[in-house]
Amino acid sequence: MTSHIIRNARLSDGSHVDVHLSAGIVEKTTPHNPTAVVNEHETDAKGQLILPTLAEPHAHLDKAFLAERIPNPSGDLLGAIHAVHEHAHTLTFDDIVERASRAVNIYLKNGTTRIRTHADTFDGSTLQVRALRQVANNFRDLCDIEICALVQWPLTGKEGKPSRLLAERARADGADLIGGCPHLDTDPSGANKVFLALAKDLDCNLDLHVDETLDAGMLSLRDLAKRVINKAPAFSVTASHCVSLGMQSTKVQKQVSRLVAEANIAIVTLPQTNLYLQGREYPSAMPRALTALAALRAAGVTVLAGGDNLQDPFNPMGRADPLEAAGLLVSAGHYFPEDAFEAVGSTVHQRLSGELPFLTPGARAHFILTPAKSVREFIAFANQPRSVFRHGTLIHDTLEA
Ligand SMILES: [Zn+2]
Repeated sequence: MTSHIIRNARLSDGSHVDVHLSAGIVEKTTPHNPTAVVNEHETDAKGQLILPTLAEPHAHLDKAFLAERIPNPSGDLLGAIHAVHEHAHTLTFDDIVERASRAVNIYLKNGTTRIRTHADTFDGSTLQVRALRQVANNFRDLCDIEICALVQWPLTGKEGKPSRLLAERARADGADLIGGCPHLDTDPSGANKVFLALAKDLDCNLDLHVDETLDAGMLSLRDLAKRVINKAPAFSVTASHCVSLGMQSTKVQKQVSRLVAEANIAIVTLPQTNLYLQGREYPSAMPRALTALAALRAAGVTVLAGGDNLQDPFNPMGRADPLEAAGLLVSAGHYFPEDAFEAVGSTVHQRLSGELPFLTPGARAHFILTPAKSVREFIAFANQPRSVFRHGTLIHDTLEA
């Protein structure tokens, strides 16, 4: 790819710029030159807002669109887990590839160029990992898809041996990293220890569903943070959900948040699914089931936001658009819209792939052009037009679709 200039793009601060690209990489950004004539090697942004592409730090593409096939009458977490286990034998390789591909196509049209998806593992099988590897390979020129094997519990003791072996097989079969649910283990702290050892042995990153409970007695995040500080692993550790931290006193939230910051653990909050799954036992004053967002951010922790499940037994809603999570961060998490947008875009790219800040020289030219007046308006309207560019090349335009 040769040099390319995006003329007259509007930054979120209102200034207009020309973005100079070379081989899909940002070379420099200069104030817009209104007298320049746009030639065939250039794109006229016509004053549209230029924004980083979106990113989904936590999906479950293997379960996408199963809401009708696998009902969850109780609507809670254990109901969803049991329902999926009962129907696991009905899922096939082609079926998983087809549903996951449908989801990725929608994510792409919405401007998403990076997805980290978890992949279930059942009864010694890595079917989901292999199917999602196929999907990741199919979409490799359009979207960076990372696969996290969701290793079944228990992990600890003799009983945990099959799961530990499964983690190894999942890595061999195409999982980029491993994860699981220590809060569902009989020994959450022991599970944290095993997960950290496994990630080291398997030379990969770790992303745990730390907890999805309003039970303040479950606080294995503190244990995880202490272990990470102690071991100082070379791999990165991500802690997803962390719902119980939101139920602690502000004093405990601050203490744990400081440990999480020291451990350099990134937190992923999943507002839509946790608003749906948790709180059903509270007839009044229902908690929001979000983690302690304010305390974590005040401590300097990197907080990302994701969609989690997509129209399946864990979450019957979802439109495969990270802006949905951003909107919920504003409404339910009291974020400013600009901060919410970063949690579903540039911060995810920087944390999960080491990307440079948006539009800085050397950054990959992954961006969206939209006529939206502001970031806030872009989030607020679900259907704002958006042209999606990857490596400086247009990969989707809602106006032409
Ligand atoms: Zn999840």
